[in-house]
Amino acid sequence: MQRIFSGIQPSGIPQLGNYLGAIRNWVNLQADHECVFCLVDMHAITVWQEPEKLRHQTLTQAAILLASGIDAEKHILFNQSAVSAHARLAWIFNCVTRLGWLNRMTQFKDKAGKDRENHSAGLYVYPSLMAADILAYKATRVPVGEDQKQHLELTNDIAQKFNHDYGVSFFPEVEALIPPAAARVMSLRDGTKKMSKSDPSAQSRIEMTDDADTIALKIRRAKTDADVLPEDPAQLENRPEAKNLVTIYAALSDISITDVLAKHAGEGFGPFKQALTEVVVNAIAPIAQETTRLMQNEDHLLAVLRSGATRAQAIAEPIVAEAEKIVGFVK
Ligand code: ATP
Ligand code: MG
Repeated sequence: MQRIFSGIQPSGIPQLGNYLGAIRNWVNLQADHECVFCLVDMHAITVWQEPEKLRHQTLTQAAILLASGIDAEKHILFNQSAVSAHARLAWIFNCVTRLGWLNRMTQFKDKAGKDRENHSAGLYVYPSLMAADILAYKATRVPVGEDQKQHLELTNDIAQKFNHDYGVSFFPEVEALIPPAAARVMSLRDGTKKMSKSDPSAQSRIEMTDDADTIALKIRRAKTDADVLPEDPAQLENRPEAKNLVTIYAALSDISITDVLAKHAGEGFGPFKQALTEVVVNAIAPIAQETTRLMQNEDHLLAVLRSGATRAQAIAEPIVAEAEKIVGFVK
């Protein structure tokens, strides 16, 4: 059975893109994989997080994942900082990764923008910590959204260089599992920008804890154009906002874009947004409701994370200890 590793940053409340790009696939992959799911709090602090908020968001995220169908007994759910193997392997990888490789990473460029000098060194070396997250478990499959593809290619470059430099075949090759549909859900305010839980505008995203009224309002205010929906999917190509809404509708209904258009071609956005709201509310409301219930018992959530960390540690510790031996650290 192949081992899966995947993470999500407790940098905000998970949004619809996280659900369609990652969480929903995590749930499905549990049937035939050994899964390690991680709340990557060390990644989250690569940009400023209020300590109390970070703590709360980590617990909320644990609740949302459980509410979405993550089985924390059969599989592993924990927070990254609880297992020190991640930081230790990340340091080794910082010394394997080349600056030139990191300079090509588009996530750093997107997040740092023009103010590059003023961002943390942590944000810059984010990809080598991510490689460590995965390889500390020798995971071979990593379900992610499309935006993380480049980081997974870098993970393979790091693993290969480690193996080559030390003359071993220690770290395996990693395969990105990117969903065939809705792998890059776009902002509701700007169809050219990825939907993100840390976007300053809450109007840009549907959060997994939004109630029906909030969802309806956000979709009603979502940016669109003046045209009606076309019959041919190819005609959505230069209409990023329209394409995004149709993509979300299709992914949540488990039908193709062609099928959505067969049903809604000729409609303006007024009626289509109403239909979309219904689809989104139906998908999210049960998860939001269960999240609220789980959030009432913080001790249970803490116990789930601690149990996950103990089991994660048992896998990662010997792998990272072996990597340290390969490097020449006295053990
Ligand atoms: P942040 O803005 O803090 O980076 P985020 O919304 O990008 O938050 P991450 O925690 O960075 O979320 O990513 C968690 C997972 O969700 C990753 O697998 C990522 O590829 C996926 N993901 C994030 N945003 C989207 C999106 N808009 N569409 C599809 N998948 C996404
Ligand atoms: Mg992100």
